[in-house]
Amino acid sequence: MKNETATFNTLKEKAEYLDKEDTLSHFRSQFIFPQHNGKNALYFTGNSLGLQPVTTKQYIEQELEDWAKYGVEGHFYARRPWFAYHEFLTEKMANIVGALPEEVVMMNQLTSNLHFLMVSFYKPIGKKRKILIEYPAFPSDIYAVQSQIKFHGGNPISDLIMVKSEREDFVIEEEKLIEQIEKNKDELALVLLGGVNYLSGQVFDIAKITQTAHHFNIMCGWDLAHAAGNIELHLHEWEVDFAAWCTYKYLNSGPGSVGGAFIHQKHLKNIDLPLFAGWWGTDKKERFKMKPEFEPMHTAERWQVSNAPVLSMAACLASLEVFNKAGMPDLIEKSKKLTSFLEETILHLNHLYGKEIFRIITPNQRGAQLSIVCLLPNPKNFYQQLIKNGIITDWREPNVIRFAPVPLYNSFEDIYLAGEKMNAILSELVF
Ligand SMILES: *Cc1c(COP(=O)(O)O)cnc(C)c1O
Repeated sequence: MKNETATFNTLKEKAEYLDKEDTLSHFRSQFIFPQHNGKNALYFTGNSLGLQPVTTKQYIEQELEDWAKYGVEGHFYARRPWFAYHEFLTEKMANIVGALPEEVVMMNQLTSNLHFLMVSFYKPIGKKRKILIEYPAFPSDIYAVQSQIKFHGGNPISDLIMVKSEREDFVIEEEKLIEQIEKNKDELALVLLGGVNYLSGQVFDIAKITQTAHHFNIMCGWDLAHAAGNIELHLHEWEVDFAAWCTYKYLNSGPGSVGGAFIHQKHLKNIDLPLFAGWWGTDKKERFKMKPEFEPMHTAERWQVSNAPVLSMAACLASLEVFNKAGMPDLIEKSKKLTSFLEETILHLNHLYGKEIFRIITPNQRGAQLSIVCLLPNPKNFYQQLIKNGIITDWREPNVIRFAPVPLYNSFEDIYLAGEKMNAILSELVF
């Protein structure tokens, strides 16, 4: 049953047709691909580190030039004055996450933002002191909530409710999550979940879960690391209390680039919210008067602690401009087609070999990611073969390979070519 390359012809024709129909295909040339044997690698790890837009260099160079030219005066005289640099990002970012500009601020990084936001929105009172998260969750999020609980004098084990997936595919049933929120309603102070689970790629119903938490008078925050720039988000309309995300995954802003934060409009008026303050959160007009009094801003900018990291923001701006040109609705439409085509290709490989070699664990509620359990006797070896053949994916113990076809720069041909190469690898391994 092996090596039936001919049967790949239908997939090849389909990829050609879909690429021809793709109205976003020209965006591919606006990104720089790592090279493999003199050709673009088949890059499927935009969920981990997005590719570099060709304009990024120019945006960073502009700031280096203005720094050279103006020195400290660049805060006011740079072509994009550094004093207010974060403002160039706000509206473009708000478009991507479905927020009002006043609700969004780019600052710090993801885990730091989770901490700063929990200072305001995790307020253990009386019996209501617990935090609910999902499991598996990204370790940084677990450490962050445990340390917040400890900081408030709580017990990081008994005050943390982890809703665990009991299933082999790591999927957490939404009914179970909601049941747990209801069951613990009198003890929960905060529900903090990932909008898209990093491991399984499962997308949660953010609106419904947020509504459930609110029904029981519980704050609800979201980690959007794998959601921002990937799935449809309407944070304002969904009444999410707060959210944080990074910009180096789907948002292509470079390693360790600046993070994002959202605080719902309904909380912005409440100037009594506790907050870890810094000079960038005080009223802009008063800031350089260097007064000892903190004059809270009435936008998400109040949560800013330090002045803007301009070089990483320049990279972020370059990327957000590409996103805003393409527009989230079209990107999401293409994303669905790409991911379905990847699914079809993977299932075709199983079919060719007459057995289940790959098991897709990502449920149908998904974005641009398929997590695939490799059932070969030595799955890590298969993953290493992928890398050797220029198919860049990532590996999660014990046997999960994550593929993220990204609508801004991946083509249907990328997927077809990956399928063909996987077939060649399998023909050596499977008998
Ligand atoms: C990527 C990721 C992080 C990384 O946190 P940083 O603070 O950006 O290093 C944290 N949480 C989740 C859910 C992630 O996916």
